[in-house]
Amino acid sequence: MNLKRKILNNAIKFLNVFALDKLYVRTQSKHGISILMYHSVSTESDAAFIDPSNSIVEPLFDYQMNYLQQNCNVISLNEMFTLIEKQKKIPARTVVITFDDGYKNNLTTAIPILDKYNLPATIFLATKYIDLQLPQWIDEIYCIFKYRQKNNLQINDLGITNTITLTSENESSLYKSIGQLFITSSFEQRSRWISELYEQLDPNINFPKLSLSWEDIATIIEKHPSITIASHTEDHVDLSQLNSTEVRKQINNSIRRIQDKVNVDVDFFTYPYGRASKTAVKEVRNLGLKLALVTEPFSITTLESDRYEVARVASPNSKIFFKHIVSGAYPSLARYLFKRI
Ligand SMILES: [Zn+2]
Repeated sequence: MNLKRKILNNAIKFLNVFALDKLYVRTQSKHGISILMYHSVSTESDAAFIDPSNSIVEPLFDYQMNYLQQNCNVISLNEMFTLIEKQKKIPARTVVITFDDGYKNNLTTAIPILDKYNLPATIFLATKYIDLQLPQWIDEIYCIFKYRQKNNLQINDLGITNTITLTSENESSLYKSIGQLFITSSFEQRSRWISELYEQLDPNINFPKLSLSWEDIATIIEKHPSITIASHTEDHVDLSQLNSTEVRKQINNSIRRIQDKVNVDVDFFTYPYGRASKTAVKEVRNLGLKLALVTEPFSITTLESDRYEVARVASPNSKIFFKHIVSGAYPSLARYLFKRI
């Protein structure tokens, strides 16, 4: 973390510890909505197979949900849509909870906690991963690296034209740079690279089932009406790399698949990796969805927000930073005080 970011984080802690953020929110006549993004809510055994950047541990998630129930106004995406559509006043500290990708532990671990605190949420599915019952690619490469039995790697397509020997010093930078290439690649390309990685690094993994199945999703719909099911494309691809036809296909196929398998209407969408482009936004707008969400760390949703580029923030693992984000003062107070965030 760079020095400026450290200073800013400490300043945010200061604002939160002395409740200055809550005080600031009380002075405001207009409020925004903080939309939280989660992926996996992991038990100890799941956590061993999931990239930590996509994971929150169960006790911390419980703490955050308890905090939201005590201090915030948590609404569903549909309620948020109505607020924006009817231009109604947003109550202070309004929060929306979302999960991307379709982890099985959303049902087994997160939903029991959400039910305990009576909180609504939305789960966005990358439908091919549900169909094929695959782990997310990032978790596969995370585990291939973590549980590898061999260390030599050479994959021309990934820019590794000379053999690299993986060590504890170079593995994290290589993992990150490979991850960047995976983000902008197609499902087929990723599958080929993953097979190569398995072959060359020979990991000793016994993957548990990490993705929701269609039966799990049917159970969620039947038994947990406060949970909304929505689309996150078919292949989990970066839409900013695709043309209009390909974007439409990714979204339409995933919506149709959800409707065919579990018979619900799909009104909401999240752009994989939070990445939209003008073409992607235009296509999403034309498809008649109610809202589409990007990932924008330093923004809050207001009545003026574009319905097809609604900002969301990854829920942080720091308790203080979390409390600040849902205080309603984020990011405007820090921006006001420090002219930046
Ligand atoms: Zn995703």
